[in-house]
Amino acid sequence: MSDSGHALPVLPYGTQSIDDADIEAVVQVLRGRWLTTGPAVEAFEAALSRLGGARHAVAVSSGTAALHALYAATGLAPGDELITSPLTFVATASAAILQGGTVKFADVDATTGNIEARSAAGLVTPRTKALVAVDYAGHPAEYDVLRTLARERDLILLADGAHAFGATYRGRPVGSLADATTLSFHPVKTVTTGEGGAVLTDNDDYADRARRFRNHGIVRGPQARTRSEGIAATAYATTWYYEVQSLGLNYRIPDILCALGLSQLERLDAFLARRRALAARYRQALGDLPGLEQPSVASHVSSAWHLYVVRVRERARRDAFFTRLRSMGLGVQVHYLPVYLHPVFAALGYRAGACPVAEDFAARAVSLPLYPALTDADADRVIDAVQTAHRAVL
Ligand SMILES: *Cc1c(COP(=O)(O)O)cnc(C)c1O
Repeated sequence: MSDSGHALPVLPYGTQSIDDADIEAVVQVLRGRWLTTGPAVEAFEAALSRLGGARHAVAVSSGTAALHALYAATGLAPGDELITSPLTFVATASAAILQGGTVKFADVDATTGNIEARSAAGLVTPRTKALVAVDYAGHPAEYDVLRTLARERDLILLADGAHAFGATYRGRPVGSLADATTLSFHPVKTVTTGEGGAVLTDNDDYADRARRFRNHGIVRGPQARTRSEGIAATAYATTWYYEVQSLGLNYRIPDILCALGLSQLERLDAFLARRRALAARYRQALGDLPGLEQPSVASHVSSAWHLYVVRVRERARRDAFFTRLRSMGLGVQVHYLPVYLHPVFAALGYRAGACPVAEDFAARAVSLPLYPALTDADADRVIDAVQTAHRAVL
């Protein structure tokens, strides 16, 4: 049972906010003609492209699909290496490995948990193709520095912006900071489509290839003319003929989900404002607790506050603190076990100790509940619980 002795509902670390307009938007698509590959997909992409400050947006079925499609679009192939942060969801790395790439993990900045450029620079080899930043907890990575490194070493700069849609870096939106950016619309992310994701880019080729990868590599129209033998000339003129010129998968996102996404984007600013207000409330109330580090935001950045991650100064106390918070009905979480510590990566030859800052960060981290629907009363419950657990175990 909980410390307080009564069963208050568990406050998850993150969850969606769905209103009547969202429901109505979905119902309208269900009553219409296009359940998939219709106008809602294009409208959602246009809105993402505008908000993310990128010429193209390619909406797909998940953030993982977005990473996979983007890696394929850059031509990542066996023998190519990419460098990313271990403080991320596994998909940032696994999608690249499934595409045949080799992943190297750079250590992170001790304050933000974002990839550290000097550590990344030390891993560059002649086979390195791309640098993949992850905007941990919604705080954009240090893009000016990463851009310089990418230019000097002739690397593609990519961003896994799954945490950070709506954030800005020196006034520029996430979506416009790298050569291409992936987003996720899982229910815990800034806006949701249930499951969904997107690739944002100014690069025409990446957009084209990601779009093709999303749909089995299928090419239609004037570009689909590479075969000639056995094709009646009239077939080209009729609409049945298409060619598969590269491999792809079905990563399409239905109109049903894009309608939800479009409706959610109407409230993007309100969602971000609420997350910021809650983060400020936590900081105000918890900032003085000794032995507990609060997240901070660089002055040239506006965070999307996907997560509010506190860190216990004494590593050995983290699990007791975490368990106590869970016992009081907080659905706290740890983001993340450094990716290479998962057994599958050990089997691939990765070893503990590779990124000591990331390992230390992860060993001390606890993500508190943070989402737009969290009320002031909920937030005060979180604050009370953290203060109680702090007194008890820190
Ligand atoms: C959520 C997330 C993903 C994967 O997105 P899905 O939509 O769940 O496939 C990838 N990277 C990061 C950093 C994420 O947080």
